[in-house]
Order: sequence, then C-alpha cells, then structure tokens
Amino acid sequence: MKYIDEYRDPTKAQQLVAQIKCLAHGRRVRLMEFCGGHTHAIGRYGLGRLLAPEVELLSGPGCPVCVTSASDLDYAIALAGLPDVLLATFGDMLRVPGSRGRTLQHARGEGADVRLIYSPLDALALAEAHPERRVVLLGVGFETTAPGMAATLLQAEAQGVPNLALLSLHKLTPPAMRAILGSGEIQLDGVIGPGHVSTVTGSEAWRFVPDEFGVGVAVSGFEPLDMLQAIYALVQMAVSGEPRVENSYARGVQPEGNRAAQALLARCFVVDEGEWRGLGRLPASGLRLAEALRQRDARALYDLAVAPAAEPAGCRCGDVLRGALRPEACPLFGTACTPRNPVGPCMVSAEGSCAAHYRYAEVAER
Ligand code: SF4
Repeated sequence: MKYIDEYRDPTKAQQLVAQIKCLAHGRRVRLMEFCGGHTHAIGRYGLGRLLAPEVELLSGPGCPVCVTSASDLDYAIALAGLPDVLLATFGDMLRVPGSRGRTLQHARGEGADVRLIYSPLDALALAEAHPERRVVLLGVGFETTAPGMAATLLQAEAQGVPNLALLSLHKLTPPAMRAILGSGEIQLDGVIGPGHVSTVTGSEAWRFVPDEFGVGVAVSGFEPLDMLQAIYALVQMAVSGEPRVENSYARGVQPEGNRAAQALLARCFVVDEGEWRGLGRLPASGLRLAEALRQRDARALYDLAVAPAAEPAGCRCGDVLRGALRPEACPLFGTACTPRNPVGPCMVSAEGSCAAHYRYAEVAER
C-alpha cells in the first residue's frame, strides 16, 4: 500500500535494528514511549524483542482513558444518573472503572442515558434531537482530541443549540512527562515523543526534556521505520551525551505545531490543574472551559458531591502509568485482569499498556 509499505520495509527495519545495536555498543539504553499508540506499535511489530537487550522500552502515561482519575469517573457516573442528563461518550470510556469498579456501563444498566458517539458532532446532533435534555459530552483526551471538542462547542454556539455541555477531563501531556522525569522514580536515557499530540503542540513543546533534564526526545510516527528512526536518534544522543529535540515525524509534525488548533484551544479553554491516575494532581496539566463558555461547562452547571475515590482493589495501573512497574508484574495481570474482564483502565483501553502486553506476548518478553 503506497505511503504505508515504505514505512514497513523489513530489510530497512533489520538494517536499522543492526545499526541501533551497534551504536549502543554493549550499553543498555532505557527509553520511555510516552504514547499508548506507540506501545501498541512496539508490540504489533515486535520491536521490543528485536531491540533487546541493548534497548529497553518502558510504557508511559500516554493513554487518555487510562489516566482519567477514578474521582473524575465517579463524577461522570453521577452526572449520567441525573434525570435531565444525556451523557455522550466515546466507547472506550464505558468500561473504565471509577471507585469500587463502577463504570458508565453499570450506570447505563441501571437506567442512566449514556450514548456512544463516534465524533463530537454526534453529541451536537443528539442535542438538536433532544432539546428537552441537556447533552453532556464527556471530554477525555489530550491536545489531539480537545480541538475537536472546542470546534463542536463553537458550532453549537453558532447554530444556537443551548443544551450541549462539556465535562472537560482533557489533559496536557508535557506536564505529565515533566512530573515523571522530575520525580526521579525511574531513570531514563530518552523519550519517544507522542506523534499525534505533537501535530498540535509542535515538537518544540518537548524542548524542556533536554534543557531541564538532560535527556533526549524524538517525536515519532507509528510505523516501524518511524519508530526505529526515532530510537536510533535517541540511542545516538544517549551514547554521545548530547541530548536534543529530534523530529522523526516531519511528515506530520511541525516544530511550532498546528496554530489553528492551538488558537481553538486558547479560545475555548483555560489551562488548569489536572488530576491524573497514577500521577495525582499536576499544575497546568488540565483544560477547563473558558468563562465565555461557562454556560456549557458541566462542572459549573452541576455541583455534584461524590465520595472520595478508591482505586480498584489490587490494581497497579498507577505504577504502570508512571513506568515504575511493567504490566506483567502486576499480580492481577492475565489472571484476575484480562481484556475480557478488566480490573483497571490499562487493560480496558485500546491504548492501554496492559492490554498491549496481554495482546502481544512479545511485548511482555521485552
Ligand atoms: Fe491494572 Fe489490570 Fe494492569 Fe494490573 S493488569 S495494572 S489490574 S489494568
């Protein structure tokens, strides 16, 4: 397939793997892939096995569903139970556990009106079709997803549809990477920067990684040659001791990012504290609706009190999301917790690292 096959050329991949191993020269280089999409690509193409033992790959917190906190989920579940609310959500949020394992799917089974959508515009259509209800769009996602939510709210404003609101659980990714690097909990030699997020933020958003922490960062696409090229750059930086920002996804990412998407975010949101599963409350890592859209802010419209959150018993998702624990080291992995019967969000989401490690056995072996 043109434009795809050229990034999956096995001969070139083998050459790159050999070059990376040669470059490491007996040194073990430990990298974190921030993005859950990368974790799945590593498993799908067997990159962890190919690069071991010279390169060790750790999964990061780049799964927006997984990092949504239990308390935010509890709030969404309480919201869905209100009689005037129709909650619109993407499907992967349905089975993510809040406190005591409760999910939106449970709420739906108990009568809450929770609808699956495939686009934010589906929520706008629901609001138009149900003027007597308030349609609350569950806003989960990083810099990549938030502009679409913003554009939908502006479309509702333009069309005069008053009953569409947003529960913004959106998060900004650089503060999470800063928290992991700054905590000292794990030692990294480099970071594989998220490709999709960086189309919006730009590769320069990761400048703080080499400048503040002396570690290289390479923004990568999702095909095997994309990732191997990024890993080559990171190993080269680690060996030379000269960290920098490398854009290995130049066909999708500009240094300055997508200005139009950034302008949409600035118009509709205010940067605020965000609550992350596994990382806690991080300053300047969340997005709440701007004052001009306050009448569409579900948090402002519904002052719901929810009980203090409790993580699923035995779940180690928080440790997994910080790269402090490999998924297969969780005592529940593959026994009590499987994709069919997930205990924690990292096994639920299509981008979750536990789901990837379970699905691709070779990931578990890296
Ligand atoms: Fe959480 Fe399941 Fe992963 Fe354990 S295996 S960390 S319970 S998702």
